[in-house]
Amino acid sequence: MDEERESNLKIILGDNSTHPVKGLGSVKFHLDSEEPILLHDVMYVLGLKKNSVSIYALEEKGMRVAFIKGKLLTWPIGSSMRNAFPLGSKFEGLYTVTRRPLLALVHHTNHLSEPWHRRLAHLHYDALPKLKKLVFGIPDVQAQHDGVCPGCASGKKTRGPFPSRENKTNDMLQLIHSGICGPILIHSIGGHLYYITFIDDFSRKTRIYYLKHKDEAFEMFKEFKALVENLTRKKNKIFRYNNGVENISNDFINFCKKKRIKKEMIVPYNPKQNGVAKRKNRSIVEVARAMLHDQKLSKFLSREAKNVAVYVQNRVPHQALDNKTPEEVFIGVKPDVSHLCIFGCPVYFHVPKDKRNKLETMGRKGTFIGYCENSKAFRIYILGQRKVEICRDVTFDKYVALGKARDIPLPPPP
Ligand SMILES: [Zn+2]
Repeated sequence: MDEERESNLKIILGDNSTHPVKGLGSVKFHLDSEEPILLHDVMYVLGLKKNSVSIYALEEKGMRVAFIKGKLLTWPIGSSMRNAFPLGSKFEGLYTVTRRPLLALVHHTNHLSEPWHRRLAHLHYDALPKLKKLVFGIPDVQAQHDGVCPGCASGKKTRGPFPSRENKTNDMLQLIHSGICGPILIHSIGGHLYYITFIDDFSRKTRIYYLKHKDEAFEMFKEFKALVENLTRKKNKIFRYNNGVENISNDFINFCKKKRIKKEMIVPYNPKQNGVAKRKNRSIVEVARAMLHDQKLSKFLSREAKNVAVYVQNRVPHQALDNKTPEEVFIGVKPDVSHLCIFGCPVYFHVPKDKRNKLETMGRKGTFIGYCENSKAFRIYILGQRKVEICRDVTFDKYVALGKARDIPLPPPP
């Protein structure tokens, strides 16, 4: 099912009669085994007397299917056939879904805004309709949505669709804002106590680095500076930082003198002076909190959530840039957002033959936790193993993520 074409959907029956699809959503069934199952992308078609299931759609959604002794069996790719459950049975020469739906759970009108709000790291709903002109890879999305987003309600402060207008510099790297945050006392993947952000004032492109000690900030600054100067062929002229970064010693002072970088240290409690870094760091924390809360995920994944917040915010419009995206200003091309996914979404991925042992299946399940900056690969967290895999060939189950956000009950794991 193509999301962009959903409003024009029609089905054609064997007698050539055409029937418009009145609604599209998720439907809960009770099967013969009495176990509930949630089916997604179910079309409501007036006049259709029988419930039908598309085998193609099941396979597309990461399910295996078999017909054995009059039963239609299905089970997730990556698990054993022993976990199969009956979806339907043979009746008068046809396989049919055996029970009636209990409840239609999701109405189709907000079919796009709910997932895209989450794929775009809880971007304000009012910003969604404007995005089609500003980025590649997004359909027409309306601002209309289903009440209050639970992630935003707990994680984000109320704010307009885009940040307010600010004065900014005339060239890339002319001014870099930086702010250090911590100590963070929650253990996370990689283990760190602090993080530091670097924001190019001209493009608002942001990068985030993690530190075990504050005195690593100088090394991170040098790494960041070498990277962005190499990418842009420009030189950093002013470095504006908060009172956490000044601990970086005489080496930092000498380095700036040698590279002719003007240092501007922010006086604590002067909100006007380093508003850009302070607001950015607050926004990263709030968005990360919203994403974790939305998918009921542990704070253990907060570092990954912050990385996703930065990655996505670089690809959505900023009012200081006349609604261009930081990525477009930085590299000169509108970003493609088609690969963005809901943080915490269940994902199935392929394991190459040489990377699995004899007992492992070729498909495995994990949780989507991030992007790779320089490739289209995804970071997948393997539950139970506390391990992160980098994969390109993945299938997302966004409907499970949407159901989780809205506390829609899901079928028990097979
Ligand atoms: Zn939200």
